[in-house]
Amino acid sequence: MGIRRLTHETVGKIAAGEVIERPAAAVKELVENAIDAGARRVDVSVGGGGIDSLEVRDDGRGIAFDDLSLAIERHATSKIDSIDDLKSLTTLGFRGEALASLSAVSDLRVQSLAAGEQVGGVLRVVFGEAQPARQTAWGGGTAISARDLFANLPARRKFLRQPQTEANYVARMVTGYALAYPGIAFSLEIDGRRLFTTDGSGDAIGAAVAVWGADIAASLVRLQRPDEMPEGFEINGVVSLPELERATRQQQYLFAQGRLITSRQLSTAFEQAYHTLLMIGRHPIGCIQVDVPADRIDVNVHPTKAEVRFADERLVFSLVQRATREAIIGHAAPQSIPTIISSPLDDWTIQRRLSLAHPERRSEASGAFAPAPETLPVAETTAGLVGGKTLPVLRVLGQIASMFIIAEGPDGMYLIDQHAAHERILFELLMPGFETRSSDRQLMLHPVQVALSAREWETYISCRDELAAVGFEIEVFGGSTVLVRAVPAVLKVREPAKVLQMMLDEMDRGGRGTSRLESLAISAACHTSIRAGQALSLLEMRELVTQLEACSSPLACGHGRPTMLRMTAEELEKQFSRR
Ligand code: ADP
Ligand code: MG
Repeated sequence: MGIRRLTHETVGKIAAGEVIERPAAAVKELVENAIDAGARRVDVSVGGGGIDSLEVRDDGRGIAFDDLSLAIERHATSKIDSIDDLKSLTTLGFRGEALASLSAVSDLRVQSLAAGEQVGGVLRVVFGEAQPARQTAWGGGTAISARDLFANLPARRKFLRQPQTEANYVARMVTGYALAYPGIAFSLEIDGRRLFTTDGSGDAIGAAVAVWGADIAASLVRLQRPDEMPEGFEINGVVSLPELERATRQQQYLFAQGRLITSRQLSTAFEQAYHTLLMIGRHPIGCIQVDVPADRIDVNVHPTKAEVRFADERLVFSLVQRATREAIIGHAAPQSIPTIISSPLDDWTIQRRLSLAHPERRSEASGAFAPAPETLPVAETTAGLVGGKTLPVLRVLGQIASMFIIAEGPDGMYLIDQHAAHERILFELLMPGFETRSSDRQLMLHPVQVALSAREWETYISCRDELAAVGFEIEVFGGSTVLVRAVPAVLKVREPAKVLQMMLDEMDRGGRGTSRLESLAISAACHTSIRAGQALSLLEMRELVTQLEACSSPLACGHGRPTMLRMTAEELEKQFSRR
């Protein structure tokens, strides 16, 4: 299909505007054009942050010589004929604006050879002044380069950041496309230095390793397709396991219909999948591509197409969250229980600690590694919030140092941190939204009066709704004294006044959750859970482990610390020189 001018009517309906506000935006438009042209290979290079020079070269189908001057005309495009075509859009571009805008603010050169033509063409446009197209020898595909961006518009140029920063924006952009299009071989060169090359083999993990480095490869997983995927919807991508985290969201990429977008809600949905698995303030990395039926998305809401509107917003968010959650939980079970690999033989402290609190159970423990019937993996009954078993049934053997529970699973030995584990359980029991949630309350026999300090009172007022939501029934008694009438039934609150004050104090210091409600639940769980140093009966330990098995995310406490370590049977055999 050749390039044509859009009618005035159509032009009036597209969200037109300034699309080239910085070098990265120019690169994005050129890369998208290359993808639209069916390129298998895209090479990007920039110099001086892209302000001095930028070039995108591809091996796509090229531009016919006779179309060259139309390509740089505003609202001339080969991609749509009328506004109705947006309903079935399969290309990234559709406005016919990018080359026109870029040619107005730079010294632009387009070189191309269209498939089927003998001789290539070159067109130069110097800050809006087009020179006649010339025929030239050109191997194939298209190269578009721009120099001296905004040199004719000093006011616009002033808004650009340091070249280094602009180069970073370009790098982020190209990295995103290289991740989302693993079937295309991308390369990026900045100031003559090669940043990365992907091989175009179609393997998403391979592309991620090429752009992010090999050391993260083991911590990445492909997204899982949720079971009940509605017709025409598709979710792809790679995301990090909870063990890999970053201080910023810089390495998160969201694509909708093949274009890099920004969406706070979507990125929140993504991060929610790591809920309580990552430390607060840490972020996962990943590249997520969402595709929906063409008539269920509006890409025509923003000039740079960076924002889109989904007709089924909630559905899309929940699909992203479920796909991510399933991918990381599916992998988390064997991998995120840290395995003990140091040799216990060298480590006298471990040896000394291996005095079981309940010697009478020792005989039960012998004959250890033949899986007893009760150690077979549990059925779906323990499936958590997102489905998928995360913890096998464990057989409790005893307690170590009044701190750790030692248990046997189908694949070896487990050491469970009793405090962290109990905290996890209570957190899920308190926090609305978990399947294990219990909203029972325990009425106090005698309501407990608590005189709050001015500061505690202020904090109490700011989080009274959250206190009620997790199950505390508190009423104002007069002045700054409150009456605790009921506490969540799941908590063993021995000293309600002390627990309340500790929670308020923690809330006052900012809390440790992503929301006030979560902070409160974490705090309540922490201050009422079993402490390290508390001796437990076998029965208590079994109960604890059973509850942990029922958790959605049993492997980390509310703060993201691990609840357990595992040593596989093979590892034990190795340590005893049996292998
Ligand atoms: P749009 O992408 O919205 O159509 P552009 O201004 O980005 O508008 O491009 C104008 C036209 O130039 C495109 O419709 C396409 O036909 C042609 N074109 C641009 N870049 C390339 C390329 N790399 N390969 C082939 N054709 C291209
Ligand atoms: Mg375009």
